[in-house]
Amino acid sequence: MPIRRLAETTINRIAAGEVIERPAAAVKELTENALDAGARRIEVILAGGGIERIEIIDDGGGIPADELPLAIERHATSKLQDETLVRIASLGFRGEALPSIGAAARLTLISRPDGQDSAWRIDVAGGAVTPPRPVPGIKGTRAIAEDLFYATPARRKFLRSPRAEAEAAERTVWRLALSAPHVAFRLVSDERVVFDLPAQDDTARVAALFGREAANSMIPLDAQRDDIRLSGLIGPASLNRSTSQLQSFAVNGRPVQDSLLKLSLRLAYRDVIPAGRFPLAALRLDLPNEALDVNVHPAKSELRFADQNGVRSLVIGAINRALAQPVSLGTAPVASLPILAPRQPSGASYAPPPSRIARGFAETELALVAPPAARPVFAAPPSTATAEPDMPDHPLGAPLAQILDTYVLALAADGSLVIVDQHAAHERLTEERLRAQFAEGHVATQPLLVPVVVDLPPMETARLLAESENLAKLGLEIEAFGPGAVLVRGVPAALKEPDAAGLLRDLAAEFAESSTPLALEAKLDSALARLACHRSIRAGRRLQREEIDTLLREMEATPRAATCSHGRPTFLKLTRADLEKLFGRRA
Ligand code: ADP
Ligand code: MG
Repeated sequence: MPIRRLAETTINRIAAGEVIERPAAAVKELTENALDAGARRIEVILAGGGIERIEIIDDGGGIPADELPLAIERHATSKLQDETLVRIASLGFRGEALPSIGAAARLTLISRPDGQDSAWRIDVAGGAVTPPRPVPGIKGTRAIAEDLFYATPARRKFLRSPRAEAEAAERTVWRLALSAPHVAFRLVSDERVVFDLPAQDDTARVAALFGREAANSMIPLDAQRDDIRLSGLIGPASLNRSTSQLQSFAVNGRPVQDSLLKLSLRLAYRDVIPAGRFPLAALRLDLPNEALDVNVHPAKSELRFADQNGVRSLVIGAINRALAQPVSLGTAPVASLPILAPRQPSGASYAPPPSRIARGFAETELALVAPPAARPVFAAPPSTATAEPDMPDHPLGAPLAQILDTYVLALAADGSLVIVDQHAAHERLTEERLRAQFAEGHVATQPLLVPVVVDLPPMETARLLAESENLAKLGLEIEAFGPGAVLVRGVPAALKEPDAAGLLRDLAAEFAESSTPLALEAKLDSALARLACHRSIRAGRRLQREEIDTLLREMEATPRAATCSHGRPTFLKLTRADLEKLFGRRA
């Protein structure tokens, strides 16, 4: 075949693949255009996850009628003053978004700049343009993209379920709204108002988008290094989540998903948050535009910093300092303070390592300051490791002691020493109990005497309520309670006294992650495992002898009790042979 130039439509379709890989990307480009146009108010309306329809209405500067055909032409932009690409202050600059959307979907622009006596409309469908004509319309621009990817079936095949696409698109608007608090934002998805926010300051916007509870305990931060400034709010270590969804970064006002920033955030929390959990953050970085290359990828969400090390140490240093601040009484989760005071084991004076206390004020559940001694739970523990004749059916043996308020020691019938991780064991038992009840078709609910109100970010509230029927099958009864809150009426009885707020937050994250067309079964299955994690007996709780005994007996009676739901062992057994090896008596 001879070499030939590709038709403009084909070029645009190829570009569409890069710029507009899914509805969320189209939403991002169109909303960024509205922000670049100086809008004070932006409304985003989605249908079918944006696959069916995306409509963005702004009150910005508009596009003059005679420029409409140019706006949808490739590499046509009003935003690059010079062509050096060194100082890029606008969100857009490549002139690719509108032609790409117009190539893959049906795009309509209706725009009326100040001083123009009517609005004008232009349509592009699969690359074919209908010339502009006057229509009624108010000041600003309405961009409508319908039937996304109808003209590029190859791309259409890669779309996920409308729910998953909606999730991604909503998250995109959430990020943009965080990056531009001075702009009023309204987001409607499938006729549901996800949020409707006035122009506000940074802190108020974070509160509206992270949920009141999170906002109340988040820690403000403001730091500077050379001409790079970092500001925003970060969550206390205790408010960690199972996904990184509640992290947002804006660099010079541009929402980014930058790996250097994500990594720096993770490193900053490394010592205070368990592996696999993620802190909350709403951070903005401001630096001279020339110290930044935003032209790394067509989607413009990745960056290159001239001074990578500077950025990394600024982020890590500022967060470490913020986390080390003494808790101010105005914003602190005051209730958690007393737990942090080191418990004084009788007789011994035990001072926790100062560095951990200084930064770890929020780690209420890590038993950092547990008394060092073991606590016998037997009035008179047997002094020799001989088999107890009356315990042949109890492979895990009789309780000996609890150590560090976390591990249980038991003496097995064959003389082995058994060490149980009480939290892991309880988690497994709870999960198995829930599963058994679920298999029988009824998970018992414990109604709460006083229903609990849980504040959540608006998107998570909506997601949980959408699943409320399924959650009821798991024994969790919730209902709507205003825009940013859920009322919990009942919890699975097997959980005893769960932390309802933590539980709902994790479930919300779970449902968001699995919003792929995942079978209901699988969804409930992972939800069950999550529920079990919220069993009330934690590491760091002191157990009575009877409780330990019950725990051991239940473990013996429960299938798969040897590992917790994360696959870690729930108990270790040291036999005579193991002990002899450890002491070097045996090879
Ligand atoms: P870019 O944003 O990179 O310039 P786009 O293809 O997204 O490229 O948009 C092309 C041009 O159309 C922009 O440079 C801008 O002049 C104009 N435009 C697009 N959307 C809007 C809007 N909502 N309000 C005003 N002008 C707009
Ligand atoms: Mg643009």
